[in-house]
Amino acid sequence: MQSLEAELERARELDTADLADAIESIGFECTRCGACCKAEADDPHTATVFPDEVRDLQAATEYDWRDVARPMPYGLDDGESADTDDAEDDAETDESESETEPTGETFEWALQTDACGDCAFYEEADDGTGACSVHGDRPLICETYPFSVALGGTSQPMGEAVDEAGMVRAHECEGLGRDISREDAEELAAALKERAVRELAEAIAVRDEYAPADPDEGVVVHDSEGAKRPDGSAYEG
Ligand code: SF4
Repeated sequence: MQSLEAELERARELDTADLADAIESIGFECTRCGACCKAEADDPHTATVFPDEVRDLQAATEYDWRDVARPMPYGLDDGESADTDDAEDDAETDESESETEPTGETFEWALQTDACGDCAFYEEADDGTGACSVHGDRPLICETYPFSVALGGTSQPMGEAVDEAGMVRAHECEGLGRDISREDAEELAAALKERAVRELAEAIAVRDEYAPADPDEGVVVHDSEGAKRPDGSAYEG
């Protein structure tokens, strides 16, 4: 695999007209089904959001950091007791003794979720159509769904690609295959290129900023600005 720096160079050289051609050939119109904003089976919605995007969403909503973003869960110990059978067998077991606070190091942030595991900003109308309550300020990953580019080090949301044209991959989405105007395809292509460049620049900065944190210090999130607590404050470890 190419180095992140080489992939970043390739991302910067992507031709948005070629990307728009690919998007047009695949076709897309959002039906507002909400599938990309909601929990999938038992898995909560997990979409990467960059630190500056968290702050943009905070500015748009006046929410706290924690209301906008949560530590990316991968690699974290959630603190729940591993031996649940024993806990169930023992009626005397005090639940508070079998659970501890989450710990571990993780990379990047995910959009915050609600009690159902759906994106915290997802709203559903009575007729079942979905809407994003921060549509004008939504992160690049949402703006460009269901597309990604075929470059190492970029995110491939919602699993494997279901369609591909040139450098563009399309992921599971019921709006694929619908006609898209050239203007909309070009707008999407520009956002897709911007996202690829951002993701790779972010990955390089995370790698360069990384310094191991104390595993007993609770959850520490490494992003392109350094290490942070789950509330977005700097980890001084
Ligand atoms: S899965 Fe596709 S059609 Fe459904 S809301 Fe997301 S982008 Fe729109």
